[in-house]
Amino acid sequence: MSMPKNTEYSSSLHADRHIGRYVTSTETDNDLCYPASYLLRNPGIPKSIFASVTLEDLSCLDVSVLPGELIDIDIEFVARGHTVLVAGAISTRWHGSCRRCLIDVSGDLSFTVNEMYQQHPEDELIYPIANGMIDLEPLVRDAIVTKLPLTPLCSPDCRGICPDCGADLNEGECRCSTSVDPRWAVLDRLKI
Ligand SMILES: [Zn+2]
Ligand SMILES: [Zn+2]
Repeated sequence: MSMPKNTEYSSSLHADRHIGRYVTSTETDNDLCYPASYLLRNPGIPKSIFASVTLEDLSCLDVSVLPGELIDIDIEFVARGHTVLVAGAISTRWHGSCRRCLIDVSGDLSFTVNEMYQQHPEDELIYPIANGMIDLEPLVRDAIVTKLPLTPLCSPDCRGICPDCGADLNEGECRCSTSVDPRWAVLDRLKI
């Protein structure tokens, strides 16, 4: 019996006949490790994968990709000499709270990546091929964490909450802004 060529790509992968790609799904495996040997033996011949996985502990400040949120990874590998180039797209959804009014907000995150893997990288920007495997998880984690929004807002013109009484100013003025004693208002003007 002859072995199918894609056994190189671990048992959790199966060929998607329609688009000629290799697919890994969360139902079978959450593993993002791919053997580098086929690529390094066949420089210039690309191999693409599509993976849909979930990862835990993916956050920056209080913005995060929730543990059950799917992360779609559409990547092409190709070897050039001893380097495996990894290029493609990653998309998922983030959750957090509005920096100004603190209500829950979420949004789509979609971006491209372009990275390199080597057996014994001397440059810290290059990911290591360890035990003959390309592990995409650190790349995916690094990429997502650096792309999460630092100041998520429910809307660009969110008015936030009053620092004095805590009222949500998106729902209207609070008492603080209307109850300034006219005598103090005169002093305010004098200070200028
Ligand atoms: Zn807001
Ligand atoms: Zn107020």
